[in-house]
Amino acid sequence: MKCPFCGATDTQVIDSRVSEEGDSIRRRRRCADCSKRFTTYENAELRMPRVVKQNGIREEFSRDKLRTSFQRALHKRPVPTEYVDAAIEHIAQELLSHGEREIPARQIGEKVMAALYKLDKVAYIRFASVYRSFQDAADFREVLQDIDSSTKRAKPVAKAVPKTTKAAK
Ligand SMILES: [Zn+2]
Repeated sequence: MKCPFCGATDTQVIDSRVSEEGDSIRRRRRCADCSKRFTTYENAELRMPRVVKQNGIREEFSRDKLRTSFQRALHKRPVPTEYVDAAIEHIAQELLSHGEREIPARQIGEKVMAALYKLDKVAYIRFASVYRSFQDAADFREVLQDIDSSTKRAKPVAKAVPKTTKAAK
């Protein structure tokens, strides 16, 4: 580390201690040239990666934008807000833990899609059809079949609705 006083490159660490919170290291240094002392701090860099859009434009990662994507797909769907919050937090933590400086927007989109798939199949379809614009008809059929089988599994609940409801209409 360069001496901030004289610019000499030879400085020695004379003391080093971890902060009380344990999240940074403080080092006392002394310049071998001018003998002046200075302190440096070492912290883990925890920053959200910047998002690289398809057109190459970089922008700050935004939880709000992520939330908007979820809300659009989940419009009028019976999914509790705390599930959405948890999904957003999960994605944010994943991005943080990768430690990358940049991430393609497409990768975030894939994560949103995976989260929606677990939360609500209709929302998943909404998002995926816009986002991925199903290049392949087989892809789309596959998704529909998937949804179809999960709807069949949910049927016993639907049958619990009294028949009189239908008759009244
Ligand atoms: Zn110096």
